[in-house]
Amino acid sequence: MPDQSERVVIIGSGPAGWTAAIYAARANLDPLVVEGAGSRTMIPGGQLMFTTDVENYPGFPTGVTGPEMMTAFKQQAERFGTRVITEDVVEVELSAQPKVLRTSGGREIEADTVIVATGANARWLGIPGEERLARVGGGVSACAVCDGALPAFRDARLAVVGGGDSAMEEAIYLTNFAAKVFLIHRRDEFRASPIMAERALGNEKIEVLWNTVVTEVHGDDFVEKLALEDTVTGAASELEVGGLFVAIGHEPNVGFLDGQLPLKENGYVQLPNPGRMATDISGVFVAGDVTDDFYRQAITAAGMGCQAALEAERWIALELKPSPVESAAGD
Ligand code: NAP
Repeated sequence: MPDQSERVVIIGSGPAGWTAAIYAARANLDPLVVEGAGSRTMIPGGQLMFTTDVENYPGFPTGVTGPEMMTAFKQQAERFGTRVITEDVVEVELSAQPKVLRTSGGREIEADTVIVATGANARWLGIPGEERLARVGGGVSACAVCDGALPAFRDARLAVVGGGDSAMEEAIYLTNFAAKVFLIHRRDEFRASPIMAERALGNEKIEVLWNTVVTEVHGDDFVEKLALEDTVTGAASELEVGGLFVAIGHEPNVGFLDGQLPLKENGYVQLPNPGRMATDISGVFVAGDVTDDFYRQAITAAGMGCQAALEAERWIALELKPSPVESAAGD
């Protein structure tokens, strides 16, 4: 027996999830958001919880912090009656009708429609020493905003790996605490947007190590030095640092789907109809970074959350016959 039966369950609590919840709640669908239990690399609210200033989300002329924005999104969804549980969805049966979701808290939830908005998670280098030190809080992190202000990093020499906007943002942020930040990139040009790259290049505390990869992290309990390799010459070198921040992109959070939705080659959820959020499975919709390997912006994720909720609302109206009780009440 399920513990609860829902019309709309939204899995995930970033801009896509909360926007879907706002729309579904205002359509009187009484949505349930399963916001995630939190882990070493992700917390409810998603990637924006690790972002300092969001300057490109319309409506905030002086900017807003990621956590402030996600708190406001959640409050807006709750204002219209959205219910929230702080657990992970660990198992799904999406082809069943109603769909069945099982959570890390041991609940079994039936749902007429499901909106998957689980976003993406930080990617790691996979080099020796990285995971061991990250796990024990030994100065290896994928989130400068979460960890950068820790006393251990004050006035230290720190390294950031990556060449995208995240790496620029993390390096700039870390200059607030560090004596020096080495920005290590495997090519000789950044992927980051010009404005972010200029800010990093113009910061006197940041030194860029071009054409360089980290091959090993050394240190017993805490990072002491990095083994480096020049990607052009193959020359090996070492760099003494007191912290390593990995900012090399993200992986979509699709593990719990257990192959029930088709994925693109790069692991993001494949959608059959361009511009639509409906998946191959009737009554299942996706939104945000879990399917978007191209734009990956808060505003685009929010837009997809809106679309997914409108599609779910329409699906319920067209596909679900009202129960006899509802039908009689309406007579
Ligand atoms: P990204 O744009 O995919 O950049 C990842 C970077 O990591 C690339 O420079 C890549 O190198 C490098 N990389 C990947 N795998 C690597 C490996 N194994 N070893 C070494 N380097 C590796 O990811 P992102 O920076 O996280 O940004 C994702 C999206 O979020 C983007 O659309 C970005 O604009 C957006 N974003 C915006 C802001 C903002 O506006 N404030 C802040 C953060 C993120 P290559 O360049 O050689 O591939």
